[in-house]
Amino acid sequence: MVKSWRRSYVKGERTRVKPIVRKRFVRIKETLYSFKDGKIRVSIKPYEEYLEFDVSKAWFLSRVKGEMGELILNEKYLTITFRFKGRKDETAGRIAWDCNEKSLDGFSPGTGWTRIDLTRLFHIHRVYEIKRRRIQRKASKKSSLRRVLAKYSKREKDRADDFIHKLTTSIARRFKGYIHGFEGLRKNGMLKGSRGHNRNVSKSDWGAIITLMGYKAGTVILNPKNSTKRCSRCGMINAPKGALYTCGKCGLRIDRQLNAAINLYLQMEGLPSSLKLFNELMRGWRGFTQTGEEADEGFDELERSPRLMNPQSYICL
Ligand SMILES: [Zn+2]
Repeated sequence: MVKSWRRSYVKGERTRVKPIVRKRFVRIKETLYSFKDGKIRVSIKPYEEYLEFDVSKAWFLSRVKGEMGELILNEKYLTITFRFKGRKDETAGRIAWDCNEKSLDGFSPGTGWTRIDLTRLFHIHRVYEIKRRRIQRKASKKSSLRRVLAKYSKREKDRADDFIHKLTTSIARRFKGYIHGFEGLRKNGMLKGSRGHNRNVSKSDWGAIITLMGYKAGTVILNPKNSTKRCSRCGMINAPKGALYTCGKCGLRIDRQLNAAINLYLQMEGLPSSLKLFNELMRGWRGFTQTGEEADEGFDELERSPRLMNPQSYICL
């Protein structure tokens, strides 16, 4: 662990703070253990040292139908993971998500564009940022104040985690059986426009959303490269500015985040962007106009506005 930290540190990708082992655990790959007669045998040194666990009397052995996967061993427990077959076939559809500081934009041909309001999460961080700044200005070296700061940080994290838990649960429920595609974290350049602390916070929120969604639904991690720059209709790489994406080649005018979500969806399906495909994706989706009226099929795609999903109204916070 320290070696890998050192390598990244030399490249300038990590800070000077060395990693600390907080939770002692090891992951044991399937090739490193055997299972016979109700006993799990983990090799420590091949043909020399073994660790044996007798699970023959465990209640779950007769019940689980899956195949044994990786083991996780910590100081107190041994966790056995199981793999279940045939789950992937039951997908209801695929939906790709583009994440921004204030909203989460999803696209799927079946459901169209779903925009989830994240302003509440944004406000949680904003409130604590203001609180912290007020204290930091007063005195930076007083230990009592440092304790207050730590308390605020913990509260901020707890409240954000709570929101993300509820958010992911409501997404998983709303899109039951769907596979969700998320952009992998970019090391830099992600969430432009937000600075310093804010950017780190958004990054960690994004990471938490992906992790928790992974527990609650099927997920796929997508490559974020050019997802915001590429035109989802013709594939041209543009440099968009502001909330509206305009393509210099085909003239498409589309919400910037919807464009990114469509691009991610195409990546999920392994499809290249094309005019025909774009029209097909849009046809299947009967959205609503900005005025709330039913969209006219003859209208340009710009008229299609998102189905709003506000976690506040879907879950009791
Ligand atoms: Zn275009």
